[in-house]
Order: sequence, then C-alpha cells, then structure tokens
Amino acid sequence: MCPRCGARTLFSEPAGLAEECSNCGLDFLALERGGRFVGVLTMLLALVLIMAALATDEWLRPPLWVTFLFWGPVTVASVVFALRFWKTMWVYHQFEESQP
Ligand SMILES: [Zn+2]
Repeated sequence: MCPRCGARTLFSEPAGLAEECSNCGLDFLALERGGRFVGVLTMLLALVLIMAALATDEWLRPPLWVTFLFWGPVTVASVVFALRFWKTMWVYHQFEESQP
C-alpha cells in the first residue's frame, strides 16, 4: 500500500513497483532509487534455494521431473514474494526518511 495515502497498490506487476501512486501521485520510483541492493538479496535467496534443491536431490533422489515441478514454482514464488517484501520495506523506509 502507498505509504502516504494507503491506497492499493505499490505494484504494477507481480514483482515490479508502479511508477507512482494511482491515488495521490506519490513518486515510488524516486523513493525506490538507491534500493539496488535488493538485487543482491534476490541473488542470495536464489543461491539458498538452489542449495536446498541440491540437498533435497542428494537426500531423496527424486526423479528429475519432480525436482523441476517442485522447485520451479517454489523458486519463482519465493523470489517474487521476497522482491515485493523488500521493495515495500525500502519504499516505506525512504518515505519516512523524506518526511520533514
Ligand atoms: Zn498514495
């Protein structure tokens, strides 16, 4: 939700911020600037998931298609969720910083 007016929603696509609030016009892109470390966090998350997938593979030895069927959606969902979470946190943080 928008940190200024509370209107839904910060996002225009599953993992992408809208450019501005559709209600009050608050510039989300300006607030997001500097939040590039989000990409690093996403990489780390992906790395953890890949490690988990490999560990599961060692442990259970599932058929390959099971691995892909399970980890494909899990990875996508986790990354999208994490991106939304981090971007929201960042925009709120930046908004509070920008208040007099
Ligand atoms: Zn707003």
